[in-house]
Amino acid sequence: MYQANSDRYNTMPYRRCGKSGLVLPPLSLGLWHNFGDVDKLSNGKQMLHTAFDKGITHFDLANNYGPPPGSAESNFGSIFKESFVPYRDELIISTKAGYRMWPGPYGEWGSKKYLVSSLDQSLQRMGLDYVDVFYHHRPDPNTPLEETMAALDLIVRQGKALYVGISNYNAEDTLKASRILKDLGTPCLIHQPRYNMMDRWVEDGLLEVLGDEGIGAIAFSPLQQGILTSKYLKGIPEQSRAAKSTGFLQKETITKAVLAQVTQLNAIAEKRNQSLAQMAVAWLLKDDRITSVLVGVSSESQLLDNLGALDNLEFSASELEAIESVLQS
Ligand code: NDP
Repeated sequence: MYQANSDRYNTMPYRRCGKSGLVLPPLSLGLWHNFGDVDKLSNGKQMLHTAFDKGITHFDLANNYGPPPGSAESNFGSIFKESFVPYRDELIISTKAGYRMWPGPYGEWGSKKYLVSSLDQSLQRMGLDYVDVFYHHRPDPNTPLEETMAALDLIVRQGKALYVGISNYNAEDTLKASRILKDLGTPCLIHQPRYNMMDRWVEDGLLEVLGDEGIGAIAFSPLQQGILTSKYLKGIPEQSRAAKSTGFLQKETITKAVLAQVTQLNAIAEKRNQSLAQMAVAWLLKDDRITSVLVGVSSESQLLDNLGALDNLEFSASELEAIESVLQS
């Protein structure tokens, strides 16, 4: 029987999510990979236990995580039932809908029909009465934003989610969504964009909107799916995401030019007495508009490594300059 570590809240420096009442851990755990039916459940369980024992109170899911789609939620549900039921009120569990989940015109995008049905299915798979955060996973070019936001508001009023968020929305649509949600009385809690040293699109307007609107931000793929670690410097390890047929990281993206940058970033991290993964996490957390960094890990040791980032979040101006010049090379 799992018993959570009694020291779990002693050291984690929780951060406020935008202008909401909610705080989140600076590091959260995502279940996109490594929790599907193709993965080992015992490994997933160990990672969730260790995360919670270390003060990571936030687990992030989506309807389609697996593979197969839905299996990460089902597997999380069985681990939750076995280990986390007594801790439900200490956890922030999120899920999302937006990508294809079932056949026909109502199985993806942003209609009220899809979002409400999808969340009902997610709750059933996870064995939960409600999620803490429900996201619209990607913008829908064909559904009026008013309908999608009204669906999020409805879901909160029905008690199926406590807060709502959006993911992958650009700055302009985020501002529009935020205004609609505010008018409805269900402010947008959080935005989940991809953000890491190698993918900086959020710096071109989105972070400013989030700061102005009081919306938190949680950065996904902070390690560029593993590229921003030392793991690919000596080739592609057998069990890595790039090697697996079920992983979303294409081998072709790990080019010589990318590895040349990673080698130089690794040297900067070493000088800071950090692993590159730790430096990549710390680099995101230097901006206080970033509430949390959402890592994916395939082992407990990776999680512990990433948590070590919290020991050194400070950057000197010359370190930031050195990083910038590598990234622009
Ligand atoms: P990361 O960029 O953190 O990549 C995770 C991968 O990096 C791991 O599977 C592992 O690869 C490798 N890794 C992690 N830590 C270390 C380490 N310390 N040393 C060496 N390798 C390491 O994040 P993800 O791409 O997994 O995304 C994180 C989460 O973000 C997801 O689980 C999901 O919750 C969310 N997300 C949201 C999206 C959205 O559209 N909203 C889209 C994508 C993700 P390996 O398996 O090779 O060991």
